[in-house]
Amino acid sequence: MSVSAVATDPAVCAPLPVLGRDVRVPLVTGGEVDYAALDYAASAPALQRVWDDVAAYAPYYGSVHRGAGYLSQLSTDLFENSRRTIAEFLGCRADEQVVFTRSTTDSLNLLAAVLPQDTRVFVFETEHHASLLPWEQRADLTVTYLNAPRTPAQAVATLEQALADREPYGPALVCVTGASNVTGELWPVRELAAAAHAHGARIVLDAAQLAPHHPVDLAELDVDWIAFSGHKLYAPFGAGVLAGRADWLQAAEPYLAGGGASRKVSRRTDGGVDVEWHTTAARHEAGSPNVIGAYAIASACKALTEAGFDSLVAREQELITRVREGLAEVPEVRVLSLFGDDAPRVGVLSFVVDGWNSSHFAAALSAEYGIGVRDGLFCAHPLVRTLLGTDPQDPGECGAPEAAPGELSLNAIRVSFGAGT
Ligand code: PLP
Repeated sequence: MSVSAVATDPAVCAPLPVLGRDVRVPLVTGGEVDYAALDYAASAPALQRVWDDVAAYAPYYGSVHRGAGYLSQLSTDLFENSRRTIAEFLGCRADEQVVFTRSTTDSLNLLAAVLPQDTRVFVFETEHHASLLPWEQRADLTVTYLNAPRTPAQAVATLEQALADREPYGPALVCVTGASNVTGELWPVRELAAAAHAHGARIVLDAAQLAPHHPVDLAELDVDWIAFSGHKLYAPFGAGVLAGRADWLQAAEPYLAGGGASRKVSRRTDGGVDVEWHTTAARHEAGSPNVIGAYAIASACKALTEAGFDSLVAREQELITRVREGLAEVPEVRVLSLFGDDAPRVGVLSFVVDGWNSSHFAAALSAEYGIGVRDGLFCAHPLVRTLLGTDPQDPGECGAPEAAPGELSLNAIRVSFGAGT
């Protein structure tokens, strides 16, 4: 299979050291091979450097914001310095805030929770469910789902039109992904941001797939907030970030109520309780924070900055070209694309193989070649159905109904790679 040959050829250029490079996996045919991790879009392997930084810190582990002891002070410094490092990575202004969350999903749910009453939300149906669904959690929000565009220009025009039509004119939010987790295609973030702002709307960027591959500077991209996950950015699981404008974050009730978010709590004479909440990022970070997760993200940000996005992007583009060329040699393969074959993309690519059920194909890649990919609808059901030519409104299950030989698979196979490939 050409995919394995392309993806495991070490001559492409030097990858950043990541964990798991020397993991051997058994094959059904007997023997074992080096594992080929081609599922970065789900969770990227952690950078060795991130792991080393975390291991070096581990003996000094202490409670954050909650202790007078030396290790508590050290951990608190580490946690707050991590916030500063990430703010720098994102080019945050002094009046913008970096809130630590559990993941991109958590970040977007946090933003949904703090939107002003009756905000209109505009989101393309092509989004990952993490960007598509949080707005449905609040009954007062009105969500406009925009049809899948077929070119970046059409995406901008569709948004322009929807924003121009909006009635009445109140708070509005556009949520858009920077790079698709299905096709890897880059979205015209700056143009969409300009359209949003021209119509008095704000914009949040789902950078879960963009941040591991490209610089994500808030001012440069002209977005109001950005959300991403540590585990896709070469750090371990369990931590994410929502960064950007502080006003809506600070005007809203805390996402979680509890210690850490509250500055002062006192009993009232009528028997109740008065709470003064923090007006910093801590307002939405109640409970003991994930200091290791935050530190790991900061370490990954430093590692990527030091490696330089120019060279990371250049190497990744070479890999994409080689993967595409390899897949093009297999006539049964159809690569999925919304914006066309030549659209710029990150190292994420989905395809179907004529005559194959995608789940069987992915299982065979693992069992027979030791290649780890993902199959399914990638938590972007309407998009994948659009790309496969099945009904985007079909509420069918995520998974792989059996496709008869010669029939189109009802789901797809995704290969994804990055700085460690
Ligand atoms: N947004 C995009 C584009 C994604 O690809 C993903 C995960 O695959 C998410 C959001 C959700 O990320 P997490 O599972 O880390 O919350």
